[in-house]
Amino acid sequence: MKKIIVQKFGGTSVADTDKIKNVANIVIKERENGNDVVVVVSAMGHTTDHLVKMAKSLTPNPSDREMDMLLSTGEGVSIALLAMAIQAAGYDAVSFNAMQVGILTENIHTKARILDIKTDKLRKNLEAGKIIVVAGFQGVTEDGEITTLGRGGSDTSAVALAAALNAERCDIYTDVEGVYTTDPRVVPKASRLEEVSYDEMLELAHAGANVLHPRSVETAKQFAVPLRVRSSFKLDNMGTLILGVDKMEIFKPVAGVAADLQQARIVVCDVPDKPGIAASLFGKLAQENISVDMIIQSYARKVTNTNDIAFTINISDLPKTLTVLESLRAETQASDIKVDDNIAKVSIVGAGMIDRPGIASLMFETLAKLNINIKMISTSEIKISCLVDKADAQNAVKALHEVFGLECDEIADVKGDLPDV
Ligand code: ASP
Ligand code: MG
Repeated sequence: MKKIIVQKFGGTSVADTDKIKNVANIVIKERENGNDVVVVVSAMGHTTDHLVKMAKSLTPNPSDREMDMLLSTGEGVSIALLAMAIQAAGYDAVSFNAMQVGILTENIHTKARILDIKTDKLRKNLEAGKIIVVAGFQGVTEDGEITTLGRGGSDTSAVALAAALNAERCDIYTDVEGVYTTDPRVVPKASRLEEVSYDEMLELAHAGANVLHPRSVETAKQFAVPLRVRSSFKLDNMGTLILGVDKMEIFKPVAGVAADLQQARIVVCDVPDKPGIAASLFGKLAQENISVDMIIQSYARKVTNTNDIAFTINISDLPKTLTVLESLRAETQASDIKVDDNIAKVSIVGAGMIDRPGIASLMFETLAKLNINIKMISTSEIKISCLVDKADAQNAVKALHEVFGLECDEIADVKGDLPDV
């Protein structure tokens, strides 16, 4: 039996018809290597952003169902065009949307998770010698409702397909040359990682390294799908391979530094220090599908017997979160709810920091030298995150990247705008 390679191309790789021809050539080359190829594509260029903008110009709160109806159309265009380009080069290709394949998801609009992928149609078409092009980002519920997986979700579509088809590898082709020790637009001497573990990549992705959709890495880890991130435009560069930590040799305590500028901090002030308050607060947020990142509960004040609960969320969930908190106002007896969205979460990540003391203190010392105030701290086995003022994020990243020895000698050749700070 032939090996199956799943390839995924992001929006920039299919931004216009010339770029779609370039993608067709990459697909055909993999096919000529003797492999079966399933290709997943995103919407062309900034299509999805453009669709969001149109919706928001009609109403500030478009319904989630209609947003999915709208946003899922972008991928419908790119799959058909890519299939045509492959056919024009003399190869047999067919495009399918999520409904045609049977990419089944939960019944949650705008951030559904994939539950199951039917493979019969895919296998039948591969056996018939076809190259298959599948729409990323979208799914379908049991009752035939269209869903989407959340922005950037095509990566997850690709990895889930690779897992379902037991593919040899999933190659994510994008506009960067791989995974870097930090954002090369912020630190030009950032180095490309040849290999990184699933866990490190997950922490980096959650910490704001925008290369991959975090759920794609979770899925790759769960099903042990080797994942390669590489550029659609520099094909001599093999990019970064993401794999199990057991298959790696680790030399440095820290593999990467990331900044997440999309966070907001909420403080729920003066809630009674009694059982059940945190449970109902975070229970209600979970019900609304709002994921919470850092959480800190202060030591109870003696006189009032109250404490403050502070936590961070993604800024896009802020309006929903405030609605939830208002609805719980009577129950939590909070005296005030404070919001700070002028913050950034700066993280250092590395499987090499396990059992190595002094990493956290070096991070804090480095920030202190820059006179950067730390507002919250959280840690996992392989990550330390500090919440700082947004204006301090870039300096923090630069200094941490240097102090943990991640610079390379060459200046990365990366174009693009700096992230908004
Ligand atoms: N087109 C979708 C987005 O822009 C999905 C993706 O690109 O992965 O978010
Ligand atoms: Mg993407």
